Amino acid sequence: MKVIHTRNALQEALSVYRGRGETVGFVPTMGALHAGHLALVKACREQAAHTVVSIFVNPVQFNDPQDFALYPRTLDDDLKLLDAYQTDLVFVPEVHEVYPEGTNELETYDLGSLETVLEGKFRPGHFQGVARVMRRLLEMIQPDVLVMGEKDYQQCLIVQQLLQIMHASVRFYMHPTVRESDGLAMSSRNRRLLPGDRKKATLIYESLMYIRSHWRYMPFARLEAVVREQLQAAGFVVDYVAIARSVDLQILQAPEDTETRALIAATIQGVRLIDNMQINP
Ligand code: AMP
Repeated sequence: MKVIHTRNALQEALSVYRGRGETVGFVPTMGALHAGHLALVKACREQAAHTVVSIFVNPVQFNDPQDFALYPRTLDDDLKLLDAYQTDLVFVPEVHEVYPEGTNELETYDLGSLETVLEGKFRPGHFQGVARVMRRLLEMIQPDVLVMGEKDYQQCLIVQQLLQIMHASVRFYMHPTVRESDGLAMSSRNRRLLPGDRKKATLIYESLMYIRSHWRYMPFARLEAVVREQLQAAGFVVDYVAIARSVDLQILQAPEDTETRALIAATIQGVRLIDNMQINP
């Protein structure tokens, strides 16, 4: 496994694969890897001759400086895991390698209504930051396959939109959410949960399951209120409990005959967790 820190070294390594006509799959991450990330790496390996994983905590996508400062960084462990998963190449750039022009006054993208709902609404600027880093990484790596997680469903839609804007022909694979045995979606942020809060965090998954089994029979507003109250009673500060169309995350007030998804974002003791689940068919 090669660990690469610069653009130039990356181009050199990739040109060897390209010269042989071999395909490249890409899994972007911010490190602090867990079994969810590793499932993406495995899926990527199955879909391309070579797997490139990036580890880069992108400063431009953090709307909260505290969240950026506290984001877990575990590079040595990450590299061991990626090696065990037969990753070909790990790209671990410094900020100036990704943003040689600096991180002020960067370009903006037309991300449509996706930028103003749910995560977009509660994390202003976040998805512009995601689009900016993804455009740079995609231009550097030019993968044939891009693998990302359903856990960040809205991010998947944003990146699909970016691929259209870039006229990129990369194949996008969305990997299902990988969960702990009690249902909690795996996340690098789970490491920051205190033991009592870790137990409570399962309530987010249980809430999604509750919505999935009640959405046909309960008015959405009532259902959302019940779930919100349960989360608040357990100590969560709730950003949103929402039911939305999967295709564009337009918020629904009543059942529609279309693929539908429940989404939750809530914070416990300063740790913000998100999760989502398709609730039909
Ligand atoms: P992150 O390091 O949090 O930026 O995540 C890197 C990639 O891993 C993103 O595409 C995430 O959606 C994905 N990912 C994170 N957690 C999970 C999970 N529990 N299941 C599936 N994919 C995940």
